[in-house]
Amino acid sequence: MKLIIASNNEGKIREYKALLSSVGYDEVLSLRDAGIECDPEETGTTFEENAAIKARALFEKCDCAVLADDSGLIVDALGGEPGVYSARWLGLDNDDSKNTEILRRLEGVRRSDRTARFVCAIHFIRDDGTEILAKGVCEGQIACQPQGDDGFGYDPIFLYAGKKQSFAQMSADEKNAVSHRGMALRDLLEKLK
Ligand code: IMP
Repeated sequence: MKLIIASNNEGKIREYKALLSSVGYDEVLSLRDAGIECDPEETGTTFEENAAIKARALFEKCDCAVLADDSGLIVDALGGEPGVYSARWLGLDNDDSKNTEILRRLEGVRRSDRTARFVCAIHFIRDDGTEILAKGVCEGQIACQPQGDDGFGYDPIFLYAGKKQSFAQMSADEKNAVSHRGMALRDLLEKLK
């Protein structure tokens, strides 16, 4: 069965491809692969709303199943920011600048008050229009300085609660086993079975 993902991020598409073939989606395409342009304004105030906006906009343009996700980092001491604005927080699209700014704003904040979580919402629409929602949350803390060279985005400043390492110090497999996206995907697979 065919599935179009509302993204052009190769890493994401690869991850989804690997897992969704087990539930019958053997033709998984990015927007680019499918030759579709779809970039609706993400006007939602939650990850779930934004994932739904992207999935529904794409579903209108094609005749097969679609998947959209939305994810980001919630920092409690920043009142939940960057949250749904994670990708372009404060107009910054450079990962290092965003991480530096979070660390600056958290200067002097005690370890116990540096709690944070990554959230991922997935909105899946089957070819018959049935909608399935899946979600994953990964708890952790903001480090006092960046740690590790792997990963992307906020990975170097996010210390996973179960370990003393940042996401940027974990292998892709280790991260997938505990991450918000891994959890949301496993939740989706259960619901698709
Ligand atoms: P989107 O869901 O692809 O729009 O991602 C939103 C933003 O959240 C990304 O640009 C990253 O800055 C951040 N983000 C989401 N997931 C992760 C992650 O696993 N590690 C680090 N940053 C992430």
